[in-house]
Amino acid sequence: MISTFRALMMAQEQIVDLDQQLLKRKLRITESPCDTEATVNDRQLKAFCSNDYLGLANHPVLVNALAEGATLYGVGSGASHLISGHSIAHDLLEKRLASFLEKHISQARTLFFSTGYLANLTAITGLTRLAPRGETSIYSAKLNHASLIDGVRLASAQMDAAVTLFDHNAPNKLIDLIKLEEKPLKLIVTDGVFSMDGDLAPVKELLQIAEQYDALLVVDDAHGFGVLGQQGHGILEQENLYSDRLIYVGTLGKAAGVSGAFICAQDPFIEWLIQKGRPYIYSTATPPAIAHTLLKSLDLIESEEGIKRRNNLNKLITIWQQEMSFETWKKVPSCTAIQPVIMGSNANALMAATLLDLAGYWIPAIRPPTVPQGSSRLRITFSANHSPEDVRELIIILKAIEQQVSRKQAHE
Ligand SMILES: *Cc1c(COP(=O)(O)O)cnc(C)c1O
Repeated sequence: MISTFRALMMAQEQIVDLDQQLLKRKLRITESPCDTEATVNDRQLKAFCSNDYLGLANHPVLVNALAEGATLYGVGSGASHLISGHSIAHDLLEKRLASFLEKHISQARTLFFSTGYLANLTAITGLTRLAPRGETSIYSAKLNHASLIDGVRLASAQMDAAVTLFDHNAPNKLIDLIKLEEKPLKLIVTDGVFSMDGDLAPVKELLQIAEQYDALLVVDDAHGFGVLGQQGHGILEQENLYSDRLIYVGTLGKAAGVSGAFICAQDPFIEWLIQKGRPYIYSTATPPAIAHTLLKSLDLIESEEGIKRRNNLNKLITIWQQEMSFETWKKVPSCTAIQPVIMGSNANALMAATLLDLAGYWIPAIRPPTVPQGSSRLRITFSANHSPEDVRELIIILKAIEQQVSRKQAHE
C-alpha cells in the first residue's frame, strides 16, 4: 500500500530525479500579450517561441471581435454542445470552416472543439468505434503529436485496435505493413507538419496508399492551417488534394491566433462523432465569443492582409534557410515557420537556451519525451510580425552562442 505521505515523497523524489537528468520543466509567466516582444519576469525578451505564425494573437481586429462577441453572447456557453451550449456563432464558424475545405474533402462538414487535443482524441477514438472491438488497425506516424498518440492509445484500450508505427519519411514501408493487414477498418494517422521538426508529411503518397488499401487518412494540420497554401487553407490546399477518405484536423490557437480546433470530414463521419465522440459530448462548449472571434480570424486569413502576412513569413523562412549555417549543430531542411536547431544533449540545449535568454531572446529547449532521446534541440518559430532584421540578428547571436557552447565543452 502507498500512503499519501509515501506518495508525496515519491513525487518529490521523482522531481529531483528529473531535475538531475536536466528534464525538469519550468513554467514562465508572461505579462504581455503574445507577440514578438514578450515581458517575462519584468524583462523584455525577443520571442521566437510561439505558434502564432501569422501574428494574429494580439491583432486589434480580433481583440475588438472578442469584446463584441462577449457583448453579443456573454462569456460562457453554459453547457456542452448537445445540451444547450451550441450557439449560432458555433454554427456559423463550422459552416465557414467547411466552406474553407470543401475543395479538398467531398461532402465536407466541420465540428468545432475547444482544443486540438480533444479533437484528436475524438477523431481517433470515435472513428475506431465504427468497427466492432478488435476490428481496426491504426497506422500512426512515429513522430506524431502527443494528442494523436494519446488518441491512438485510448482507441487501443477501448476498442482493442491494433497499432503499428511507421516512419513518415519512408511511406513505402507503410505499404509493406498495410498489405499484411486483414482488419476491416484501417486508419492512417499523421501530423501534416511535424511539430518539432517543421517538415511536411508526404500526404500525397499517404493518400494514395489510403486509396489503394481502402483506409481512412487522419491528417492533423495544427501547424499548416492558416499558413500553408495561397489562401491559407492548409496542407490540403498546398498539396492540391481532394478525397472522400480524408479526416482533417485543424487547430485555431496557432496561426488563427485564437483558440480551439475542428475536425472536417464527410458529413456522415461528423454526424457519427456527434453521436459517439465522448470527448466532444462530455465537454462544455467553448464560449461563443471565441467562435465569433474566429470568424473574423478566418476573414483575415483569406484577405490581402493574410496573403501579405504569409508572404512575409515565407521571406523569413528563406532568409533563415539561406543564411544560417552551424559548425556542429544541425539545422533542419524545413520549409515552415518551425525551424529547429538540433544539438543532441539536454545539457547543450539547455545551455544554449540559457545563453539566448541572457542575450534577451526567448527560445525554448525541447527535450525528451517531446522529442526522441539524443535529439534535444532549440525550437525556433517565426511569426509574420518578425522582420528580416530580427531574423538576421538572431542568426548572428546563435552563431556566437554555438562558439561559446563548444568552447565551454572543450574546457570540460
Ligand atoms: C498544438 C497541437 C495540437 C493540440 O492543439 P491544441 O489546440 O493546442 O490542444 C495537436 N496537434 C499538433 C500537431 C499540435 O502541434
